[in-house]
Amino acid sequence: MEPTNLKALTLDELRDFVGTLGEKAFRGSQIYEWIHKRGARSFAEMSNLSKALRETLEGVATIEGVTLENVLLSSDGTRKLLLRTTDGKRLETVLIPMPNGLTQCVSSQIGCHIGCPYCLTAKMPERRNLSMPEIVDQIYLGRRVLEEAGDEPVRNLVFMGMGEPLHNFANVVAALKTLMHQKGANYSSRRITVSTSGLVPKIKELGEAVPVNLAISLNAVTDPLRDRMVPINKKYNLERLIAALREFPLPPRRRITIEYVVCKDVNDSAEEAQIMTSLLSGLRVKINLIPFNPYPGAEFETPSDEAVTRFQRILTEKGYQANIRQHKGRDIGAACGQLDGKVDEPLALVRGSTVRAATVA
Ligand code: SAH
Ligand code: SF4
Repeated sequence: MEPTNLKALTLDELRDFVGTLGEKAFRGSQIYEWIHKRGARSFAEMSNLSKALRETLEGVATIEGVTLENVLLSSDGTRKLLLRTTDGKRLETVLIPMPNGLTQCVSSQIGCHIGCPYCLTAKMPERRNLSMPEIVDQIYLGRRVLEEAGDEPVRNLVFMGMGEPLHNFANVVAALKTLMHQKGANYSSRRITVSTSGLVPKIKELGEAVPVNLAISLNAVTDPLRDRMVPINKKYNLERLIAALREFPLPPRRRITIEYVVCKDVNDSAEEAQIMTSLLSGLRVKINLIPFNPYPGAEFETPSDEAVTRFQRILTEKGYQANIRQHKGRDIGAACGQLDGKVDEPLALVRGSTVRAATVA
């Protein structure tokens, strides 16, 4: 029989599972806390369980997720964690120092089917959904790396790493519920943001399943250009996307984040900024302008600072909050759109890991 992965179970399922082994349900709660709150990597660490139970668990269950292979440290303090799945696939998560605390950028898939031409993840030949344990384990390994380095813990989680989260809806929602569980990592939904390229039918469903923050990769304000930049637009165009944003069950005092990758001479004109102000009118949004992050062989270029600040000014003059994203972690290939799971990538200039992978994996 295949071992049961306990990391994938809800608290109730885990309590039931230990019941099938003849144990009291509270043992299930203890195991849940070991896995999700304390980030145990083995049954051997679960010191308040009897040796007999730990041995039984070794035979019938696992708690595997992903393993840590290396940590790249950027000159700006950003860390990229290089991870591997049990079937040998590579993925990445990034820890980014931000003014409002450390933010972890979480991956939801290996590769991505959407195929945005500016994004390196889209170019990965391998594509698959990450399982729920593979998603939550990114956060648990991040936590260990920070603890070992004596650094502050992660405050915000953003699902803006590799992949399209809403293409992996069930696993992402299960991971979100687990990460928000009081007996687990206990993240507040206010501190979690899920970003989508615009999978319209799933947007409202996400908001109804978990009250997390929503981010949309807009990236173009007319359909012909967005068809090219975010190809899912051919299926769900701007009109349908904006309608979905109006329907999103946005909790009070929150705003939808609009991401806009600014590419030189492609989508950085004053006219496009004007169109954006009318497109988004009446929506509670804040806008993040992300200057294109380059990589070798890219078909786009980083815009001039003047073009980006002009774009921002037009938005702010119409009353929108518009921020320009700093390109954190560019030197280690950890910035937006630079994640492709390659360890030997030319962008990885700083190889010095603060934590030896072996102590954490
Ligand atoms: N697939 C989801 C989640 C990933 S978020 C989504 O697209 O929303 C990744 C963010 O980085 C998106 O907003 C995307 O538009 C942006 N991005 C992708 N490639 C980029 C690049 N080369 N430079 C800057 N931003 C990029
Ligand atoms: Fe996929 Fe997002 Fe990259 Fe587009 S930007 S290819 S949707 S990960």
